[in-house]
Amino acid sequence: MCGIFAYTGEKNNAPELIFEGLKSLEYRGYDSWGIAARIKEKKGFEVERNTGKLPLKNSFAKKSDFAIGHTRWATHGGVTVENAHPHLDCTKKIAVVHNGIIENYESLKKDLLKKGHKFTSDTDTEVVPHLIEEYLRKEGFASSVRDVFNLLKGFNAIVVSYAPSSEIIACKNGSPLIAGVGKEEFFLASDLSAILPHTKKVIFLNDNQMAILGKNVRIFSLPKGRQLKPKIEKIDFDPEKSSAGKYKHFMLKEIYEQPKVILNLAKNYSTQIGRLSKVIKEAKGIFLIGAGTAYHACLSGVYLFSRISKKHINTVFASEFNYLEDFLNKKSLIIALSQSGETVDVIESLDRAKEKGSKIAAVTNVLGSTIYRLSDYKFLLGAGPEKAVASTKAYTAKLSVLILLSYSLIGKGKRGKEILIETAKETERILNDKKTTGKIKQLASLISKKEHVFIIGRGLSYPSALEAALKIKEVSYIHTEGLAGGELKHGPIALISKDTPCIVFAPNDETYNSIISNATEIKARGGTIIGISFKNSSVFDHFIEVKDVNEGVYIVQVVVSQLLAYYIAIIKKLDPDKPRNLAKSVTVK
Ligand code: GLU
Repeated sequence: MCGIFAYTGEKNNAPELIFEGLKSLEYRGYDSWGIAARIKEKKGFEVERNTGKLPLKNSFAKKSDFAIGHTRWATHGGVTVENAHPHLDCTKKIAVVHNGIIENYESLKKDLLKKGHKFTSDTDTEVVPHLIEEYLRKEGFASSVRDVFNLLKGFNAIVVSYAPSSEIIACKNGSPLIAGVGKEEFFLASDLSAILPHTKKVIFLNDNQMAILGKNVRIFSLPKGRQLKPKIEKIDFDPEKSSAGKYKHFMLKEIYEQPKVILNLAKNYSTQIGRLSKVIKEAKGIFLIGAGTAYHACLSGVYLFSRISKKHINTVFASEFNYLEDFLNKKSLIIALSQSGETVDVIESLDRAKEKGSKIAAVTNVLGSTIYRLSDYKFLLGAGPEKAVASTKAYTAKLSVLILLSYSLIGKGKRGKEILIETAKETERILNDKKTTGKIKQLASLISKKEHVFIIGRGLSYPSALEAALKIKEVSYIHTEGLAGGELKHGPIALISKDTPCIVFAPNDETYNSIISNATEIKARGGTIIGISFKNSSVFDHFIEVKDVNEGVYIVQVVVSQLLAYYIAIIKKLDPDKPRNLAKSVTVK
């Protein structure tokens, strides 16, 4: 969600560098974009902005050694050219890009309007350049930015450039910002992957810090502005090249990568699993937290820990956690699941838990991400970059880790690994068996014409049903509900009418008979039953076989649904990699 990229240095192709930087941040999700480059002998900026996707090639022809760029995910003000960042002050000498929400922008704007400032957008962001313009009347550039940032309420990251100076100033107390330290040049980006093609020397800006990049790099703490020694880290890995390769979309590629991801976790993670299970054993009171797909993995974790390890663990959406935190103490453990490691709701929860002295374990896919850095125990999923907005392989990886952990907690780590190896095999079979994929495509065509879909499961298939429903709604825009089979009769069954498709997860476990009864109840009301099960049943109108691979079956069910979701999107001529309104890493509240 929202990308920031900035450059100052010796090169005179800054707009091109910014354009490339923004391209590499594209996968985060955005609805408009913009670049401001300093030209005309330090007198002002030339700005290019637009709604929709970045063009294929950089169209900013002018040369410049100093530019900032942004991909916006609108929170305040519609998706229009006027609202796209960068935003300028009245003198057009201050350019600002921003990620986050300025919660008190209305009162700040009111004061600025009274002072005669002219606003050209509906954003909360635009108060920042106008406020800096005010402060510059009485103090220098750096202290103006600092003082203005201190006025802002909410979680924010801003990057400011001022035409008469060659310095770029960044402040943050929320969204990620990483500074790249090159040879007589500096970069700033929301994501490590955008910096690494230019330099391996980076500074991860912490919350409540300000960075000044110009002839050198200086870091200050906020709110006071005390100078700190910059902590330059050398990153010793190359950014993983990520292209969809032979696949038409990243989503399809990532779906097909899953057998490899599962096997990798089964074979190479014994030490990390052992370490994390020790931490879990020692904790008193454990919470799994996540958002969206990661939350569904958390919910599966609750069932897995209960069934396999006989251990009680709580879960809640990260965005609800703060309303439940009162009982946390020093012995509590929060296990945060996050693909990007930047999910703002998770970060906020972890900050609050830290204040209470609780320990934090992070299970994430991104090295160096905010959640990775602020956790006491770090677990990297090793699933490789996930570029499609709808998460697939990161979900599978999280579930694999939770299965391994559950078995490791009872001293049966080997059994966990065996299950995952079988799961990888069954996933591979499903993805490469022409009959199965053909059937999935046929079902995709059937569902693509419908307005509502229901997915039911019980026990561990319930979180799978939620995740499968999320996948279909994310990429196909069809209203899809995941339900616990037992809840149907308590309301939702009223929505079933003739030919309403209902996907039923019926694995070889304790839920089988009850879920088949629920399917029968739906069928009696005219619904079309799509069974995903280890065996066919007379109640199924359509059947996809998923072999019994113990707890691994809850992964394979979801893989089938991911493929289904993908093909529905294709049939509806939608881009499954970049669904409307969605962003990859959700960095605003
Ligand atoms: N709140 C700002 C806006 O709506 C920033 C959004 C973002 O983080 O992209 O323009």
